[in-house]
Amino acid sequence: MHNFTETINKDVNLSYWQHISYTAHYDVIIAGAGIVGMHCALEFKHLYPKSNVLILDKDPWPSGASVKNAGFACFGSPSEILDDILNMGESKALDLVEMRFKGLQLLQSRFKNTKIQYEKNGGFELFWNPRVFETTAAQIKYLNSNLKYITGLSHTFKPYKSVKDFNFKGVHAALYNKLEGQLNPELLINGLFTKCIKAGIRILCNSPILNWTEQTQNILVHTPWNTFTGQHLLLCTNGYTKSLWPDVNMTPARAQVLITEPIPNLTWKGCFHFDAGYYYFRTINQRILFGGGRNTDRETESTALEGINHRIQNHLQELLAKRIYTQKSIKIEMRWSGIMGMGLEKYPLLEPYSKRVFTCIRMGGMGIALAAFVAKKAITSFFK
Ligand SMILES: Cc1cc2nc3c(=O)[nH]c(=O)nc-3n(C[C@H](O)[C@H](O)[C@H](O)COP(=O)(O)OP(=O)(O)OC[C@H]3O[C@@H](n4cnc5c(N)ncnc54)[C@H](O)[C@@H]3O)c2cc1C
Repeated sequence: MHNFTETINKDVNLSYWQHISYTAHYDVIIAGAGIVGMHCALEFKHLYPKSNVLILDKDPWPSGASVKNAGFACFGSPSEILDDILNMGESKALDLVEMRFKGLQLLQSRFKNTKIQYEKNGGFELFWNPRVFETTAAQIKYLNSNLKYITGLSHTFKPYKSVKDFNFKGVHAALYNKLEGQLNPELLINGLFTKCIKAGIRILCNSPILNWTEQTQNILVHTPWNTFTGQHLLLCTNGYTKSLWPDVNMTPARAQVLITEPIPNLTWKGCFHFDAGYYYFRTINQRILFGGGRNTDRETESTALEGINHRIQNHLQELLAKRIYTQKSIKIEMRWSGIMGMGLEKYPLLEPYSKRVFTCIRMGGMGIALAAFVAKKAITSFFK
């Protein structure tokens, strides 16, 4: 006879029907309903259409970095890529660009632009310092010749002649690429959620995974209200993974964002970056969304707790007023933060924890671009 108390918390008032449903056996249980978790679930279901897939998320609705980000569908600014080449070598840095580029292509093949408010307005790296611009511009030929095999363009990055038209105060020059875009992160999560449900993937929110027990034939995944049984557990818990795997090679990294009140006659569009990608801004509904500055207070921001860092927020506000919108003072309507997962190396972590537990985390500040491709890579390498 089945021992009910073994799997169901007896303080939870479940019906027989719920019991039957929640004690089903899953081929894979995915922790985290962010963009990575949902892309992974879709890839698994695509590979094994008859499989039983469950996603568990700790919150009432996915509320990790996937819905806190700036919505840049970008594969990197020139100085960011050059920085990556310096830090991790040419081959790995270009590999990362390629994964982002392919990830964006995959994303666009999954969603109609209007579904996720995807707009291809291009990306601009701005330079206030002429010396930094000259150093970067001198390497554009080298970058473009390497990127040609990824983007198919002879000139992925080119100087942007009309930078003065933006009215950014004191800006010296800009490098432009036409391939980058922007989207609405909440619509992306909604779209993935709908696709998962349509594919027959079960998603249960308010179900934080506390820990698990590996057995010879399966794995028991424990939440406060139920224990789920599966074949494998895939952790897509991003910046929160340390609570489940304390030694994981990932550091939580908080990021700060602000958004202004609507500004009449705000005409420019696009994804703007400066200082090797440490600062970024775009427009949305006549407002300016501006984020970054984590590098000015790394210690405080190495946390998995959401919260406003007033020092960084004030710094962003000052930069906004001094450089980006100087015409008149504008109100900041909202501020928020989100938690990313970073590594010593700026590269996603696809690693087995054990025979039955795997991780697909550490998308850094590039998850929108990376998620679809990295999820495909994770599912094929772990489960094929
Ligand atoms: C402020 C900010 C701006 C950014 N801007 C951009 C940008 O413009 N472009 C870009 O490409 N990227 C950007 N990023 C990065 C991007 O958002 C992330 O790389 C991406 O969202 C990571 O997706 P994910 O699914 O791995 O993580 P998440 O969205 O964080 O998902 C992890 C999920 O795991 C769940 N979870 C955690 N622990 C448990 C548990 N124990 N049990 C069950 N569930 C659990 C969480 O609730 C969460 O839903 C930004 C990030 C931030 C914070």
